[in-house]
Amino acid sequence: MRISSKITSDAFVYIRSLIKPGVSTGKLDEEIEKFIRSKDAKPAFKGMYGFPANSCISINQEVVHGIPTKRRILKEGDIVSVDIGVEKNGYYGDSAFTFPVGNIDPAVKKLLQETIKALYLGIEKARDGNRLQDISHAIQSHAESHGYGVVRELVGHGIGKSLHEPPQVFNFGKPNRGPLLKEGMVLAIEPMINLGEQYVTTLQDGWTVVTRDGLPSAHFEHTVVVRKGAPEILTEHNLKDEVF
Ligand code: MG
Ligand code: MG
Repeated sequence: MRISSKITSDAFVYIRSLIKPGVSTGKLDEEIEKFIRSKDAKPAFKGMYGFPANSCISINQEVVHGIPTKRRILKEGDIVSVDIGVEKNGYYGDSAFTFPVGNIDPAVKKLLQETIKALYLGIEKARDGNRLQDISHAIQSHAESHGYGVVRELVGHGIGKSLHEPPQVFNFGKPNRGPLLKEGMVLAIEPMINLGEQYVTTLQDGWTVVTRDGLPSAHFEHTVVVRKGAPEILTEHNLKDEVF
């Protein structure tokens, strides 16, 4: 899992320089596939539940599961959420990051910053002896304290020999509820936070989830190991520093 997660985080670093106005989401997807295969690994999303691409790439009001295409072109002021899964030697890594494209609206930049903070507050609770919803509660309370909407329909998950394993990791919940967390459990923690209301809907393509009010949404995800001490982030990189 360390290996597949490292390839996942390196893929984000690899595409970072390509995220700029004029680039298509299809081109990003192509580069992501090229990078993952160069590591003798597989893009985990390709064909999963019938998904047609290597990565999910979602722009602005698109929350998750956007299908990359050569016809979707990034422009100045967009935000673009990239979600990448990697399988290597039968083990999975999963991570997401929402990039600003050039200069973005300060309110949207703040949404990115606070969603990153919500993710790390959630990760901080991934400790042996805590309960699952301690993570959920930390994420929800931070996001809602800024007036943001927490998406209910989509959740994080356990991860290991499959991309999606139990338990579901909700981004909302109450402290001290849910299964006990144990040293060595691995969870993909992934808040999806909306600038406006929490409500989402799915487009006619059957995949792309968008906010109902059309306002932007941010998505950040890490693959995290529960530890007795500080949780261990397997997909860590330093791209978040650029958002602050
Ligand atoms: Mg993901
Ligand atoms: Mg995930």
